[in-house]
Amino acid sequence: MAKVVISHRLHDDGMAVLEKAGADVVITNSGKSQDMLPELLDAEGLIIRIGSIDRETMLKCKNLKVIGRPGVGVDDVDVETATELGIPVVIAPGANTRSVAEHAMAMMFACAKDMVRCDKEMRKGNFGIRSEYKAYELNGKTLGLIGCGHIGNILAQMATGIGMNVLVYDPFVSAETVEAKGWGYREDMHDILKEADVISIHTPLTPQTRNMIGEAELKMMKPTSILINCARGGIVDEAALCKALEENWIHSAATDVVVHEPISMDDPLFKYDNIIVTPHMAGQTKEAASGVATMAAEGVMAVINGEKWPKVCNPKAYEHPRWNK
Ligand code: NAD
Repeated sequence: MAKVVISHRLHDDGMAVLEKAGADVVITNSGKSQDMLPELLDAEGLIIRIGSIDRETMLKCKNLKVIGRPGVGVDDVDVETATELGIPVVIAPGANTRSVAEHAMAMMFACAKDMVRCDKEMRKGNFGIRSEYKAYELNGKTLGLIGCGHIGNILAQMATGIGMNVLVYDPFVSAETVEAKGWGYREDMHDILKEADVISIHTPLTPQTRNMIGEAELKMMKPTSILINCARGGIVDEAALCKALEENWIHSAATDVVVHEPISMDDPLFKYDNIIVTPHMAGQTKEAASGVATMAAEGVMAVINGEKWPKVCNPKAYEHPRWNK
């Protein structure tokens, strides 16, 4: 029976996959390398929900054949060492894509309809807020996507469904690809910022995207526009965003991610009622949690059984002699 160590219990659907495959599952309830090590010494598989594994630990685990992540982030796994040892790192791409796109869509509506602020005001007895006319229709407005990969594509499709126009800025996607879908393409991000009514960010956090939206960019946006960030904290310069919210450079903003998570209660962003903040939950739906757990569990069992599972972040691991005997 193959032993699989899990840092924290997976969604029931993922646990069911392991059970059905007959794995001997051990849950450590800690994702720290040193805490998992005693159980890992004779394990064939590891699934890390929250935690990390370093080189030193991997070198000690002679039976370890596969590491799984119920997600796509592998920043806490020493992938280089895993590859060197012929250990594939299984990921779950696409499992939370729709959930994140829906979250961005929900934020777009909530901002355009001024929904959260009005709910808070109503609870204070301010029924008259309905006559401020801060809410507006999205039909006929333009969604500007910064980054148009898996999530951006789904959001664009949903936005066209409610009669929005779509503009894309993504230097790694061709104009032909975007235009074939009926959307507009802009080579310069500044054009999107100036033209769009809603800007939604869907890029990874990279040296190029860090603080990509700062004071200058926020000032380019229409005073009636909305800024959505369901990507990563750090892409929007938070000090600049606070200034924009304070001085009403834009209509409103919504963010699922901030630089320091969990966000502290005295974070300056909370001073403003024209921003909605959610706790990095866009990908935390029931469906996504089930999807990532199932994919990670299936991949881990497949690799243990000798299959070259394709959804790994380091396919080079399959070039190791242990895979080519
Ligand atoms: P993806 O890789 O499919 O798409 C990312 C897109 O960004 C690509 O098309 C790429 O060309 C583009 N891009 C890269 N650098 C760029 C730049 N400098 N300017 C403009 N475009 C650039 O990824 P995805 O699945 O669509 O996810 C996007 C991001 O969403 C992820 O990187 C992740 O950070 C974030 N995310 C957040 C949550 C959440 O819970 N809030 C969940 C999943 C993913």
